[in-house]
Amino acid sequence: MADRYGVIGHPVAHSKSPWIHAQFARATGEAIEYGAIDAPPDGFASEVERFRAAGGRGLNVTLPFKREAFELCAQATPRARDAQAVNTLVLDRERIFGDNTDGVGLVRDLAGNLGFDAAGARILLLGAGGAAQGVLGPLAQAGPAVLVIANRTPARAEALAARVPGTGACGFAGLAGREFDLVVNATSAGLGGELPPLPRTLFARGALAYDMMYGRETEFLAMARAAGARTSDGLGMLVEQAAESFFVWRGVRPATAPVLAALRAA
Ligand code: NAP
Repeated sequence: MADRYGVIGHPVAHSKSPWIHAQFARATGEAIEYGAIDAPPDGFASEVERFRAAGGRGLNVTLPFKREAFELCAQATPRARDAQAVNTLVLDRERIFGDNTDGVGLVRDLAGNLGFDAAGARILLLGAGGAAQGVLGPLAQAGPAVLVIANRTPARAEALAARVPGTGACGFAGLAGREFDLVVNATSAGLGGELPPLPRTLFARGALAYDMMYGRETEFLAMARAAGARTSDGLGMLVEQAAESFFVWRGVRPATAPVLAALRAA
């Protein structure tokens, strides 16, 4: 009988994770089933418990439950503790174990799919919410020359930067006159069709602008392209974080390139 996994969030009907994991399972020969659970905003813990009691082996966690998932875990990996957020739950009879694969997903997409070398680069991370929290540690570990967090609420950027030595923080106004080789948009501004007030001079020659959102051209990517930057959405990060979750659960690393290519073609 296939082992059961899934993604839990609210809303979750739009999630591409069931399709991605079905491709991974087919390619690796792993016998898994992967579904989607739409949990009510106050019902996350009880839905996880119900799934676990029914023999479920693992869950991906998406908006808005990543922080609650961290709090639910008896144990978590260092990268989940750094992020204070969990996107991967490992379930067994005794306990709930948490991990966070978002950061490694971004770094692998940058290095493996986009050919961007973060070592020695000047990197700007926009936003200080759950997504920014998840990727800050892995970005810092990639060895950039400069790593700055800019957020609409500067105090949140400062609080985040204080956790990673050598990281700077500011509000958007503090970016005037500065240039970066990589600008990662981890704000949710694009969900509402908005663009943070960013200087057009932000992008160094040959810079990469990366929006964690995917599925449509955001105002951020349009602005970056007009300013001469190379651009990417977050679809590769989605596939890479899924592959890392698959590895955490099954000990098998699926190939990501064919899955990403198929998603792009669709
Ligand atoms: P979140 O915790 O709600 O944080 C939202 C962030 O966006 C905060 O820093 C907030 O600033 C900022 N923000 C919101 N509206 C803004 C606006 N109009 N102008 C400027 N800044 C604004 O959300 P999250 O979980 O970090 O998710 C952020 C984005 O990342 C979402 O679009 C999500 O879909 C995407 N994501 C993608 C992947 C992937 O695999 N590709 C993985 C994770 C997340 P304040 O602090 O001032 O409120």
